[in-house]
Amino acid sequence: LSAMRLDKFVCKSTELTRKEAVQYIHAGEVCINGEVVTIEATQVHENNTVLLNGGRLIPRDFRYIMMNKPAGTVCSNIDEVYPSLFNFLDIEKASELHIAGRLDADTTGLVLITDDGRWSFNITLPTNGCCKAYRVQLSRAISKESSQDLIAQFKKGLKLQGEQGLTRPAKLDIITPKEVLLTITEGKFHQVKRMFSAVGNRVVGLHREQIGEVFLDLEVGQWRYLSKNEVESFN
Ligand code: URA
Repeated sequence: LSAMRLDKFVCKSTELTRKEAVQYIHAGEVCINGEVVTIEATQVHENNTVLLNGGRLIPRDFRYIMMNKPAGTVCSNIDEVYPSLFNFLDIEKASELHIAGRLDADTTGLVLITDDGRWSFNITLPTNGCCKAYRVQLSRAISKESSQDLIAQFKKGLKLQGEQGLTRPAKLDIITPKEVLLTITEGKFHQVKRMFSAVGNRVVGLHREQIGEVFLDLEVGQWRYLSKNEVESFN
């Protein structure tokens, strides 16, 4: 927590929505260090005194969570065809959190959950190169003869159906003929499934084990707060 926009500061310290916070700011109800400020984009530092109608605002800290996503859940704040993974997150104001890199309903494993938009942007922006490692079960066995060529294809980049360019360089480790570890730095819709489809195979099981330096160490459906080191590893 160092500096943030005034409207965000107000939201993080109150029950107000962003829109309501802006209305209070425009109405001249918010002071920073004794002066009325009516511009919501004003940067506020943590040592500033911010008052709303005379009451001091203290922002809550951001939350950073990992969960082992069960199969048959969606990475959405609301239940859809499948129940939302937020049903497993028994904490206050879970609806204020979002997921940094969604998984498909049938995919299991590591998801990172936060209310810090800049942090999750660091994780999901492909050009940041943050690695996501997936354990993949395949329907067709990879033969010994084709494995080096396949590794090279994933490294070079694949043309996905409906996409213009190639995928960013990916690292393929073949564990057994039908089980691989794939490490990618981007997260296009159904990316891993589409990458294997591009090489004539099919994903029948998908589990994310790692994001950046953060490794999944929980049972299915469990969650925990990230350590300070884990949080800061993405900065
Ligand atoms: N790639 C996919 O195809 N699905 C996921 O859930 C994650 C990556």
